[in-house]
Amino acid sequence: MPAAHPVVPSLELAGGRSIPQLGYGVFKVEDDVAADVTLQALEAGYRHLDTAKVYGNEEGVGRAIREAGVPREELFVTTKLWNDAQGFDDAIAACEASLERLGLDYVDLYLVHWAVPSQGQYVEAWKALIELQKRGLVRTIGVSNYPAPQLAEIIEATGVVPAIHQIELHPYFQQRELREIHAQHGILTESWGPLGQGKSDLLENSVITDIAAAHGATPAQVVLAWHLAHDIVTIPKSVTPSRIVENLAAVELVLTSDEIAAIDELDRPDGRGGADPATKTA
Ligand code: NAD
Repeated sequence: MPAAHPVVPSLELAGGRSIPQLGYGVFKVEDDVAADVTLQALEAGYRHLDTAKVYGNEEGVGRAIREAGVPREELFVTTKLWNDAQGFDDAIAACEASLERLGLDYVDLYLVHWAVPSQGQYVEAWKALIELQKRGLVRTIGVSNYPAPQLAEIIEATGVVPAIHQIELHPYFQQRELREIHAQHGILTESWGPLGQGKSDLLENSVITDIAAAHGATPAQVVLAWHLAHDIVTIPKSVTPSRIVENLAAVELVLTSDEIAAIDELDRPDGRGGADPATKTA
């Protein structure tokens, strides 16, 4: 009998499809390493993978998918359109090239990686994703790193609401304003850098470590459980086998409302760790 995997909850995406709420991200993982660690993640029970053209590891992720032998319909694969291909025809070609590298006929979710407002192509890129969905190359479309005005603009220009918005989000940077906008439009929030990318003392914060001790859990599990409790889709990354398993097991940790409220208090005005989407250049 294969070992039982944690049961990962799914959230419904606009359009009726669903997405496993906890997935496996592979930012900054070299292509040959990606094949190995993604296979470990699939064997541990992850069914949702998050890559991007710019990560340079779509081929490795694709090799892991083939090697794992998990039926395609049980997998949820995301990749992203890089900033240098936001023109309509370039975006169509970029998606086709990503599928080729992944060895897949379609991806479950395709995201515009960054709005790059100064480039002025974020509406055109969104129109290309709408076309890709019509052509069946991508099942669901969304965006990543769109400031509120650009998010509003693509909806206004096309009438098509992104199913999901992937943004930097963690207890030190909770993105309340964007989450409120998402709720108004029925957009799911997906957090990147959910553990703070190892850039801050988040996992050593005593609010987190005290809750972890109370549950016999790890700080990373507490932080991930907080994302899940807020109906956020999240995609932690680790290349360490024990942490790959540990992070997935966060789906089994249920925090009390007081614990969630205590973590809510950790939001900081200067908590952003990555680039600001409003000023990010290509
Ligand atoms: P993360 O918050 O997932 O942090 C990853 C780091 O946390 C690891 O490198 C490791 O140092 C540490 N870590 C992981 N598990 C741990 C554990 N159990 N205990 C202690 N430390 C642990 O940051 P991330 O990788 O940047 O973000 C997750 C995923 O989000 C990425 O892999 C990628 O798929 C996606 N992402 C998207 C964007 C975007 O612009 N859309 C940007 C960054 C990341």
